[in-house]
Amino acid sequence: MSTVLLVEDDDNTRERLARIIEATEGLSLFGAVATVTEARALLEKGAPDVLLTDLGLPDGNGIELIRRVRQGDRRSEAMVISVFGDERHVIAALEAGAAGYILKDGTTEHIGKSLLQLVAGGSPVSAPIARHLLKRLHPEPDAASASREEPILSDREVDVLTAVAKGFTYNEIAEMLSISFHTVSSHVKHIYRKLEVRSRSEAVYEAVNLGLIRMDD
Ligand code: CA
Repeated sequence: MSTVLLVEDDDNTRERLARIIEATEGLSLFGAVATVTEARALLEKGAPDVLLTDLGLPDGNGIELIRRVRQGDRRSEAMVISVFGDERHVIAALEAGAAGYILKDGTTEHIGKSLLQLVAGGSPVSAPIARHLLKRLHPEPDAASASREEPILSDREVDVLTAVAKGFTYNEIAEMLSISFHTVSSHVKHIYRKLEVRSRSEAVYEAVNLGLIRMDD
């Protein structure tokens, strides 16, 4: 049986989490308190197997409790349950010694399972947090490879659109690029489809916005 010290200042959330912990086989409640001060008082008396703590508490931050239990003689596992999923909070908690980080959304239903994972040596982390941490290690691989793929418009389409943007008629463009009027018109149709626009001015606006054509030369 693993004991859990729950620190959460929102009464409803604390009661809900306490019920889930007590209902989970293999877990029992070491204590359920709302402040850093109360948690410290309980930690004077003994060490739980797990500290499950909120970060924003009325008299301090859950991070200090995480540090405290991680530095004790009997190192408790620590897991955060928070509304904050941003990098600053997550990294601070992990650096303080938390092995799990769960967001306070629908996932609280899985809290029992996450606590059991934690005592078994796992690191339960909410999916958005995991994604965030992975992104930090591998910055934007998707975006980078996507932008390296072939450009939205072909070189010839860029030529045509640039000429359109400069106010040339299809006939003038055909002559300039040594292509037929129909080829110009078919390039323009493709450009409209690719840029998802319906008019010359929208096409030019989109293309400039996307950096596909430059109007300063
Ligand atoms: Ca709070």
